[in-house]
Amino acid sequence: MSTQTKSTEKSAPKEHVSMYEAVLARFNTAAKLYNLPEDIAAMLIVPQKQVKVSLPVVMDNGKVQVFEGYRIVHSTYLGPSKGGIRYAPDVNDDEVKALAAWMTYKCAVAGLPYGGAKGGITCDPRKMSVGELERMTRAYTLAMAEVFGPNKDIPAPDMGTGKREMAWIVDEYSKIRREYLPGVVTGKPITLGGSRGREAATGRGVMIHTIEAMKKIGIDRKKATAAVQGFGNVGLNAAKLLASKGIKVVAISDHTGAFHNEKGFDIETAIKYAQKNNNVLQGFTGGDLITNEQLLTLDVDALIPAATQNQISEAIAHKIQAKLIVEGANGPTEFMADHILNEKGITVVPDILANSGGVTVSYFEWVQNQYGHYWKEEEVNAKHDFAMETAFESVWFNSKQYKTSLRIGAYITAFKKLEKAIRYRGAY
Ligand code: NAD
Repeated sequence: MSTQTKSTEKSAPKEHVSMYEAVLARFNTAAKLYNLPEDIAAMLIVPQKQVKVSLPVVMDNGKVQVFEGYRIVHSTYLGPSKGGIRYAPDVNDDEVKALAAWMTYKCAVAGLPYGGAKGGITCDPRKMSVGELERMTRAYTLAMAEVFGPNKDIPAPDMGTGKREMAWIVDEYSKIRREYLPGVVTGKPITLGGSRGREAATGRGVMIHTIEAMKKIGIDRKKATAAVQGFGNVGLNAAKLLASKGIKVVAISDHTGAFHNEKGFDIETAIKYAQKNNNVLQGFTGGDLITNEQLLTLDVDALIPAATQNQISEAIAHKIQAKLIVEGANGPTEFMADHILNEKGITVVPDILANSGGVTVSYFEWVQNQYGHYWKEEEVNAKHDFAMETAFESVWFNSKQYKTSLRIGAYITAFKKLEKAIRYRGAY
């Protein structure tokens, strides 16, 4: 059977496409254009390892609740697999599989010596106590002890997790292995071997890609406006750093509401408000309340979806007025919306490039852990910015060379590296 389906950006089926099907549809479009050999494509289509575990956790009320946990290693051709862990109520294996595949391409695009993986637990972290979250995280680490390892598979934060969860993971894993192994996970607190600059890194990368794209398409950033969807790790840091570069952030949002202020938000004030308000913007008075759809379709230069997947549907894509979209989130644009954005001439910096700043500084954290020597924040940021500018240039070059979108250009950039690695390593 052919490993490449006939779907292309324009001739996709009209019915709902799952997240992994969307990965494959874009993969196939790029593979066809690049002429990726069928054996290499076959090795990249199926994840190398898929682990699903049941995690019994004693809840605060004394009752046991069983959670489902996942870890999917998509590939290890370029090195140990790398990818975050997501806690959310709708986490499922299709989503984790898609996110794991994107990590393979993201690490390759960013030039990192890593394969791709992703993990997740189906749970609602906002409704759980700290104790419940800790017991669930430790149970997950124990269940995944054979999968994880500093030279095997290295988790990191994603939606619903942060440095606190990473601290529990490094502690539990080190107890199991009877030695302190900080390189097993990245995104740790600095006192436990975390890297300076890691927390803001994904947002920082979004800022660099926004500026690089603006230079290419002729937007003067000093006069530019931006709307940012999501006010978590990625959205908040992206908004703050864009504003620090003179870009006027006129809309911000989280799952509790979206806000508009044409004069531009003082992001520090919004951050302080959220911090005091259980980490949400609900009730914020710094701007007018608008709908999520209004935020996505505002007349701004740059739209930064930095919340969650499938936010830009076909219907929304038709109404988008931004000239540039920089995908801070993973998979914020539905597959069916790609061709509409292309036809409208909107430049889309795809997730696998736009949010690769996080995994790039995660790599720096891992390197520092291996050396036991730690860098200053300026050093981390300088290395990060250089890596992101280099990745942007190679994706831009490949998209021009193959006369395609930046999204397909990013897949092709990844294929060039993966094809070589797979050929050198061979198969038997
Ligand atoms: P987070 O949990 O810190 O924040 C998510 C934010 O999105 C919150 O403000 C939440 O309220 C908001 N949100 C959720 N659903 C929303 C909706 N429907 N409308 C508006 N806002 C909504 O998560 P994060 O780490 O910032 O991750 C956000 C996205 O970026 C995810 O797609 C994640 O996979 C991706 N990402 C994260 C990192 C990282 O380093 N954290 C790296 C690469 C990619």
